[in-house]
Amino acid sequence: MLGLMQDWPLLVHKIIDHAALYHAQRGVVTRTLEGPIVRTTYREIAIRSRKVAQALDQAGIKEGDRVATLAWNTARHLETWYGITGIGAVYHTINPRLFPEQIAWIANHAEDRVLFFDTTFAPIVAQIAAELPRVKLFIALTDRAHLPEIPVPNLVAYEDFIANANGDFAWRELDERAACGLCYTSGTTGNPKGVLYSHRSNVLLSLMAGGVDGMGVSGRDTILPVVPMFHANAWGLAFLAPMIGANLVMPGAKLDGTSICELLETERVTMTAAVPTVWLGLLQYLEASGKQLPHLRRVVIGGSAAPRSMIETFETKYGVEVIHAWGMTEMSPLGTLGTLKPGLEEQPYPRQLEYKVKQGRPLFGVELKLVGDDGRELARDGKTFGRLKVRGPAIAKGYFRGEGASAFDDEGWFDTGDVATLDEDGYMTITDRAKDVIKSGGEWISSIEIENLAVSHPAVAEAAVIGVHHPKWDERPLLIVVLKQGATATRDEILDHLSGKIAKWWMPDDVVFVDSIAHTATGKIQKLELRKSFANYRLPGVA
Ligand code: ADP
Repeated sequence: MLGLMQDWPLLVHKIIDHAALYHAQRGVVTRTLEGPIVRTTYREIAIRSRKVAQALDQAGIKEGDRVATLAWNTARHLETWYGITGIGAVYHTINPRLFPEQIAWIANHAEDRVLFFDTTFAPIVAQIAAELPRVKLFIALTDRAHLPEIPVPNLVAYEDFIANANGDFAWRELDERAACGLCYTSGTTGNPKGVLYSHRSNVLLSLMAGGVDGMGVSGRDTILPVVPMFHANAWGLAFLAPMIGANLVMPGAKLDGTSICELLETERVTMTAAVPTVWLGLLQYLEASGKQLPHLRRVVIGGSAAPRSMIETFETKYGVEVIHAWGMTEMSPLGTLGTLKPGLEEQPYPRQLEYKVKQGRPLFGVELKLVGDDGRELARDGKTFGRLKVRGPAIAKGYFRGEGASAFDDEGWFDTGDVATLDEDGYMTITDRAKDVIKSGGEWISSIEIENLAVSHPAVAEAAVIGVHHPKWDERPLLIVVLKQGATATRDEILDHLSGKIAKWWMPDDVVFVDSIAHTATGKIQKLELRKSFANYRLPGVA
């Protein structure tokens, strides 16, 4: 017998309609590409996204067509999302930090029909437009006065594009399982793979993530997503904020410490989210300027491991609570969030910190398990390492065009490619990406844990640990360090700092100082590049 409740489809554009009606005066503040700070309400965004939908419809865009965006976080970018999804088309966020050839490859693989782009990326568009035969319209997210002069056919300014529509447009009736968004993972192994979100998965993720023990936001918050909309849906914040009536502050192209601090201050931001490298920039700026963060209450850090020292500095020096989060593009993207369970809040701070450094515990709707090489499930004892598999309603069941099928098993589990532990309370700790694991004498060494400790040395800005060939042990860890500006430290000082805090056999065999470490388009340390650069590195004592 079926229940007698309504089948109200979970559609993304219902979020902006709800916001327009019930959070009409809340909205979005943008640091625009043109320069000024511009304010708009959810009511205005709902009206303008209907115009986007209508104009796309008039341009012949059909249900299921992919419409690309190459853009920073701005109100206009948000309008395109709701407009695109409102006609049943699929917003395809492309990471502009990729090489132009990769961008062209992705746009062609997705068969994008339209490309919305910020003027910052006009040179990229000019370079690749001729290689994108399927794109029939290039829309610069600006007005006519700022339209870039590039030799691209069918180029139009966004404001002109939507001026042709009167906004009298009814959203399409869609199945909630209809495709809604597309985002390619970085493809550090092989070509990038497309993750195709549905309306249902996006709405569910927002519902799952919004709770107090999730992102912990409410309609009284002002949220600054530094994490880009092209990095896995800005971690759901572009849906969650209008859903609950929180204000959004969109940073545009300026993601440096000074610019972020200015927005946090002037817009009285209460919650923000980004990858650790962004926070490294902000903390360095705060230290140099002596500024405080009087309004900010919470920062979500994910995408790479948040070092203990970073968490501690935010919490004890600036009074800002850190929520360490883990997820993947394939998970819409949130998996675990590191809020404290009952009992832990009364514990001394160092004990709490031990939990905050872990990647967190799963939201409802995220199943986790660890498996060994033989595929058998491993113990949840906080010690046993294994491959982390996940399952849930906002997790991919396959990649676009059926690629990468081996990551999905018959029981619906997706292999994250991460190696982790799970403890009795459900807290998960990532030890490494499987491909970055250091295998020494048949045992695994966690590069993340050593990196975490290394950056707690006062002179260290950033650290990476990679495995380097060793004739006896197969691999031994090499610690690569970027020092803070003006700071000094020797190899032995760094090693002394680690000594006693990790198992002896985990101690790096050597320390190398470099000026900078390269990051991927989603802010991760490029371990693959480091391993290539240090492939012939001779460790001390090795002939
Ligand atoms: P991409 O693969 O394109 O860089 P993703 O954001 O999807 O983008 O990357 C997901 C991966 O990032 C995870 O599988 C994990 O390895 C890593 N990751 C995400 N959050 C954390 C975290 N808090 N700690 C450690 N690793 C993390």
